[in-house]
Amino acid sequence: MRVYLVNPSDLAFGVGVITPRWLYVLAGATPREYGDPVVIDETLEQIDLSAVAPGDVVGIGIHTGNALRGYTVGTLARARGAFVVFGGIHATIFPNEALELGGAHAVVKGDGDVIWRRVLADCAAGRVQPLYEAGWTEAREFVPARWDLMPRDRYMWASVQTVRGCPKHCSFCSVWKTDGQRPRQRPVDAVMKEIVELRRAGFRVVALADDNFYSVSKTDIEHAARRADRRRFDELTAMRAERFELMARMAELPADTIFFTQITMEAAEDPAFLDAMRTARIRGALVGVEAVTPEGLKDVYKSFNASGEGLVRQMRLFTDHGVHVLGSFIFGLPSDRPATFDVTAAIAEQTGMTFAQFVPITPFPGTVDFARWEESMGPDPARVAGIPLTRHWLMPRTQRVKIHWPHPVMSADEITRRTQAVWDRFYSLGRIWKRASCVKSIRSKLAFVLISKLYRQMYANTGLVTDSARTSRSVRWARLIAKPCVRLFAARPMPDLEVPAGSARAA
Ligand code: SF4
Repeated sequence: MRVYLVNPSDLAFGVGVITPRWLYVLAGATPREYGDPVVIDETLEQIDLSAVAPGDVVGIGIHTGNALRGYTVGTLARARGAFVVFGGIHATIFPNEALELGGAHAVVKGDGDVIWRRVLADCAAGRVQPLYEAGWTEAREFVPARWDLMPRDRYMWASVQTVRGCPKHCSFCSVWKTDGQRPRQRPVDAVMKEIVELRRAGFRVVALADDNFYSVSKTDIEHAARRADRRRFDELTAMRAERFELMARMAELPADTIFFTQITMEAAEDPAFLDAMRTARIRGALVGVEAVTPEGLKDVYKSFNASGEGLVRQMRLFTDHGVHVLGSFIFGLPSDRPATFDVTAAIAEQTGMTFAQFVPITPFPGTVDFARWEESMGPDPARVAGIPLTRHWLMPRTQRVKIHWPHPVMSADEITRRTQAVWDRFYSLGRIWKRASCVKSIRSKLAFVLISKLYRQMYANTGLVTDSARTSRSVRWARLIAKPCVRLFAARPMPDLEVPAGSARAA
């Protein structure tokens, strides 16, 4: 029985930016008695199913964006006699869909780390169940990834997870429902071992693939203190101390090792935390800005974010501490007006953020927005290619509708057009070159320009347009510039690197 693990994708770029971590975690969770799993990331190239034999297991992880391709792969694999098992966020939310449309024998709901072994044993014994309720795995049981199976020259950045879950409840995000609101912080030793393994192999850039790296805010701790909730106060304080311990140990890694993460804007309230990030060489963070007005933030239940001038000040604090920001903005919110696009573009520039993404609001399954939107569409929603709008991810890619919310004053076309214009403005060569002043050497500036252009091609063009000719052009272009980018980020392997012992302890 061979085990295949597939990350489905309609578009293959030849090389990837960030390693899809789940593939290598499930590879780590696969008992050695089944041999090394065959790991297939279709963002590199599509699966060749001719090698799949009856009795093999094909595990497919899906999110909403790649669910349809996942169902195609699952159906084809089942036709070859394989056991097909689905997991991932989308399968957790819609297990029946994978069973009905994806050829699934089984669906795992929740984290696969621990249950995967049982699913494989059940397949081997011919008693596979249609549904496995895995729930949330505790942090001490998170499985380390099998990085030895990863092709070194195909990815720019590796990915390591330090925490799952997020205490917030943004309306457009499913993380707090699928991963829970209780942050599960991974023990520092386990995180450090994985990072060192990656640096040994020559990865010097590691994405900390966390839902929210600032898992405990100072404000949370102050609230617990004010409520005289000693137990909660002690728990949060210990979690915060563990974050600092992790960052102190990261600081002891070779000087060329750098990190990126995902964090809430609240971290700007905490200079000690930002200082520790700088020391740990966490050079960049994706920050969900979403909207630049208080009304927009209210639309998405994110009133803990700053707006206007306050937003500019908070974002600059990150940069002042050496943390570059990839700001994420949402367009098409009910309070947006035509002028919002230009104002957002201008504020994005004023903040000094290094990268930005501008995405049209989409009601993703598992979110508050989706539940509200689905209800508003009534029992018989409009259809495209026979698919109800409320199941938009099942539409053929070229017919997929991009904007799903009726907007009070703008059409879907207008929102798409204005969103594209903001991408064009932010990623014009002149503006990219100006932002490239954040790095010194010509080599680094060149890398910066390439990555900026690549980012734009991969995420703006392929994400916003449905026209297949333009999509293929973007993919070709991305393939062309992605290869030199991989080389720019590679480092000399350090096979003898030791895990830092952790002499330093911080506040
Ligand atoms: S958008 Fe970010 S802050 Fe909001 S719930 Fe999701 S992970 Fe948490």
